[in-house]
Amino acid sequence: MKTTISKIVQAQRNFFLTQESKDLTFRKEALERLQKEIIEREDAICDAIYADFKKPHFETLATETQFVLAELKLVLKNLNSWARPKSVSSSWLNFPSTDKIYKEPYGTILIIAPWNYPFQLALLPLVGAVAAGNTVVIKPSEVTPNTSKIIQNIITSVFAKEHVTVIEGGVEASQELLKERWDYIFFTGSTRVGQIVYESAAKHLTPVTLELGGKNPCIVDETISLDIAAKRICWGKFLNAGQTCIAPDYILVHKTKKEAFIQSLIKMIKAAYGENLKNSSDYARTVSAAHFDNLKDMLVGESILFGGETDSKDNYISITLVDEPHLDSKLMYGEIFGPILPILSYETEDDIHRVVNKYGKPLATYVFSNNKTFQNKIIQKYSFGGGAINDTVIQVANKKLPFGGVGGSGIGAYHGKTTFELFSHHKPIVHRATWLDVPFRYPPYSLPIKFAKKLKNLL
Ligand code: NAD
Repeated sequence: MKTTISKIVQAQRNFFLTQESKDLTFRKEALERLQKEIIEREDAICDAIYADFKKPHFETLATETQFVLAELKLVLKNLNSWARPKSVSSSWLNFPSTDKIYKEPYGTILIIAPWNYPFQLALLPLVGAVAAGNTVVIKPSEVTPNTSKIIQNIITSVFAKEHVTVIEGGVEASQELLKERWDYIFFTGSTRVGQIVYESAAKHLTPVTLELGGKNPCIVDETISLDIAAKRICWGKFLNAGQTCIAPDYILVHKTKKEAFIQSLIKMIKAAYGENLKNSSDYARTVSAAHFDNLKDMLVGESILFGGETDSKDNYISITLVDEPHLDSKLMYGEIFGPILPILSYETEDDIHRVVNKYGKPLATYVFSNNKTFQNKIIQKYSFGGGAINDTVIQVANKKLPFGGVGGSGIGAYHGKTTFELFSHHKPIVHRATWLDVPFRYPPYSLPIKFAKKLKNLL
């Protein structure tokens, strides 16, 4: 007997075959409806995310709704040109021909989203997938149930379910979904679950994008103005209460500047959130009791420089600075994903290498320095998804920059036009003219071997 999920997937496949989702006017009208719905429900979206983990409304607007609306605006402006077949120059061997690359939707796509930017990370890939002409099933995170519900409501009122459907639920729902054959899977979440998704996809040779996590270094050298570094690190790390995949995970500061940097960071934390962090309306909470417990455990036995307060009633973990944790400690073992910032110091570039190299390829790396040689060395020596020089997190704000990981932090990239390209198969077509048919490719082969050895010049 077919499960509900199988029926939904089948209905989407049937709908895809009607060719309707490929129609450019159809795609644009659907995206315009989505745009209108998000604008109308923007306050309700802020309320839902606040109910999930007290995310400040300003942060929701800046990093969730306005972020998705900017993507919609970009897509609606450019879709005609992106979707048009692109002409390329043809090969002499095919003369006479015109050669084009067609952008073809994959078909039926599964998007699995995490909880930390619960609206943005479900909707942003959706925009590109629909723009490219696909049908989509979205599985929002169960950890943020209020946001999951409002996503469900928005999608139901904007799309026919054979075009876009939301399946709410936890791990079991996700596992059921992964049993199906998809034409593309777009997953955002942990590296551990990313491996499960990749394995499931392999059974059907389904292409995937995996947007995963990592342990992002933030290197502060002795040449940078500490106040500006501390201010920008404080913002990028404690935004969303540290629950950002590209937030700095730990600091590596030059030994001669360590004390001054810590003082500067404390000054910036107080300037941003006041003396009583718990009462600040600009500071979110840890998303769940399980995440709270995990973060609290990371602090056991560590030397705390600042903060360290916790309150299980509210899943509250204060902004916490930790001094020189052991590289094999629980805090340094994996991604922290919370408002705890370890401060390590270095003297030589070998010290940096010993730490950075230990944790694989992260999603982001940041370097604060006025020394161009040092900046370039860090950017070019280490492999990581993306990053910034003299700032944190803001690389996501430019839609012309692809966003994604490498190695353990992910496969593939998206944002802006890259998302449209990602959800499109690039289909090359050679259109041959028939008025001429150069004979030498046909047997019996008559081209002398010495000319055949020059064919590379015609390819
Ligand atoms: P997660 O991997 O626990 O969950 C992500 C999604 O997978 C959820 O929808 C969940 O229901 C589902 N899932 C969980 N366990 C599953 C299983 N066994 N089988 C199938 N599906 C399963 O991740 P999370 O806790 O929601 O998010 C935090 C992680 O996501 C962090 O590691 C963070 O770095 C990463 N992240 C990455 C990006 C990025 O863009 N690269 C963005 C945000 C978060």
